Amino acid sequence: MGIQTQSALIAAILLLALGINVAFQERRVEHRAAFTAWVGGAFFYNLTFFLHAVSDSDFWRRLLMLSGVVFAQVCLRFFARYLKRNFTAARTATNVGSALVIVLLVTDLGASSWAGIPPSVLALGVYAYCIVRLYRAYRRAPARVESVRVGYLVVGGVISWLFSALDLLPAAGVTFPTLGHLLSTLYVYFWMQVIQRSRLLDLKELLGRVLALVILSVAVAVLYTGLVVWVGESYGLFFFNTIVASVVLLLILEPLKRAVELWLGRLLFRETYELEAQLGRLRIELANVINLGDLVDRVLKRLQASRRVTHAHVFMLEAGGRAYFRAGGIGPCDVERLDVVRGRTLLDALRREKVLLLENVEQRLLDVGDDAEASPERERLDEVRAQLEALHANLAFAFVSGDRLLGWLTVRDDRTREAFSSAEIGLIAGITAQCTSVVENSEIIERLKERDRLSVIGEMATGMAHEIRNPLGAIKAAAQLLDPGAMDTEEGEMVEVIIEETDRLNLVLSQFLDYARPFRGGAEPVDLARVVERVATLVRAEDHEPPIEVVARLGPELPPVMGDADQLTQVLLNLSRNACDAMPEGGTLTLEVRRERDPTRPGRWLVEVRVTDTGEGVPDGIRANLFIPFFTTKKQGTGLGLAVSQRIVQHHGGALHCDSTVGKGTTMSFALPGHDAADTLTGEHRRLLAAETA
Ligand code: ADP
Ligand code: MG
Repeated sequence: MGIQTQSALIAAILLLALGINVAFQERRVEHRAAFTAWVGGAFFYNLTFFLHAVSDSDFWRRLLMLSGVVFAQVCLRFFARYLKRNFTAARTATNVGSALVIVLLVTDLGASSWAGIPPSVLALGVYAYCIVRLYRAYRRAPARVESVRVGYLVVGGVISWLFSALDLLPAAGVTFPTLGHLLSTLYVYFWMQVIQRSRLLDLKELLGRVLALVILSVAVAVLYTGLVVWVGESYGLFFFNTIVASVVLLLILEPLKRAVELWLGRLLFRETYELEAQLGRLRIELANVINLGDLVDRVLKRLQASRRVTHAHVFMLEAGGRAYFRAGGIGPCDVERLDVVRGRTLLDALRREKVLLLENVEQRLLDVGDDAEASPERERLDEVRAQLEALHANLAFAFVSGDRLLGWLTVRDDRTREAFSSAEIGLIAGITAQCTSVVENSEIIERLKERDRLSVIGEMATGMAHEIRNPLGAIKAAAQLLDPGAMDTEEGEMVEVIIEETDRLNLVLSQFLDYARPFRGGAEPVDLARVVERVATLVRAEDHEPPIEVVARLGPELPPVMGDADQLTQVLLNLSRNACDAMPEGGTLTLEVRRERDPTRPGRWLVEVRVTDTGEGVPDGIRANLFIPFFTTKKQGTGLGLAVSQRIVQHHGGALHCDSTVGKGTTMSFALPGHDAADTLTGEHRRLLAAETA
């Protein structure tokens, strides 16, 4: 088997792999069908070439001729599609040529020695035509990125065409090293990268890797050849030397590979290596950073030291969350502060895509074109592009936590258009993730500081409440000593006001202290039915004007709950008082208690308590505020009743719920886990017991 035959086989296998890869690619691939057909045509040619060479039969020879026709057809179609042209004249010419070749190969003429020439001329002619058209497109290309890309394709195309043509020489009796099959395959591979929208710099990196592979393969081949040539005819020595060579190879391969890659990397991609080194150092530094200012300084310092950027800026979310401000930067920037409203398009894009590339945005704009349907999309892209330009950004990396955009880093290298390879983008993106967690941590630390501050204020307030209580008691006692009943009406009323208001102040203080005090309560079985009865009796005894009907409904077979009867009475009283307050025109107050299956504990019960009124209801707008301390809608209210009640219920293992319809009434309810004798203590009860004994 000659070299040409072998390289045709290899090319066929590679093309098959490429074709499958593109056909089943999940990523967006342009003109997938046309490209796959083109690869298929090239595959068919190489396969029939190989089979013809090894079998030398007339059948394969004719199929090889047919492959010329197929290739010409699919090649023309793919290029027409890619360049968005019709190629009408060329199509007609190709069809005529194809018809002629087909006539040739189905008749006896196909057996003649010159019959291989027309299909080759057809295929090469069409191929040449396509490359010329590509060259014309290159001259016209609007964007620079696009023109560079097409330029590469033209050069590659010319080379692959030239070698394919030279491949015909051996058939004419001239010996020439055959490279056409493999070079064309390489060219197809290059095309695949282009239509998959890989970036030019990545192609350069790919080239570097291929080069490293070639250098290594040559080194290996030299080693083997050296040892094996010296063997001569002796098979024993051949085996022995091969083993020696393999051992040597296995030992030195890894270090050799690393050395070659490092050397090539320094030679071809010195800047990437510098960037990688700087970012590596940054990564270690960031582990100890918790402060935002520090973070920004270090990131910018390292980027500057890498000499890979001419612009870099960090933006952070402002405290109020209404805008992003420039926290630091290298190089000029037209934006110091970006409002969340004005910058919405860019901010949304950042949040969604996390990494934004200016060139990708431009490419998408080209794709969208002047299509009327796509005009909202075009406007969006236009705005993103304008904002990236204003930020002097080729690349923007978002700091996203959950769905919150905490800030971003932009970089640009003014010296080249497509300045950063995907590998470099990956490196910076890695750092961005670390920055995000620094920003998150710094937020948490701020929040903890705030909480400490609040808890200190809380303690002070409790202390102050105690301090106020004593003089308050003295004021009330003094006012009572004045004996308002014995005074004349006006002065007596004044003193009454003093007494009433001190009472109210006292109530606020004691409820506040209830709320602020660490929770303490008994943990013994409580019969909620008895609690409900007691509260119903108490509320009935209060005289309401107009009258309020109080109904108590006690369900059967109630298990006890673990807790403190007085505290639970307090809760029900608070709820009932609120209910009565909500019915100034009178109505019905229903207190219910019943058992219910516990969905979280199979075979156990919950005891549910409901306090329902037929009052005015809670408007939607304030429902979320009910349990916030000091929230009240009443003139004389403290706003602490529900807050205290919620806390008590939560300590008993439940939660207060409000269900209300404005104008119809309100139901406040909670459910506590039922306790049966066999129950072991729940975690919360154990905690309560421990608190009590301590
Ligand atoms: P206060 O009773 O001192 O106002 P609460 O914490 O007990 O404080 O209640 C807070 C607020 O919730 C009340 O001011 C009232 O607006 C509302 N509210 C509570 N219970 C009801 C109810 N049953 N119907 C209507 N509104 C209610
Ligand atoms: Mg109340």
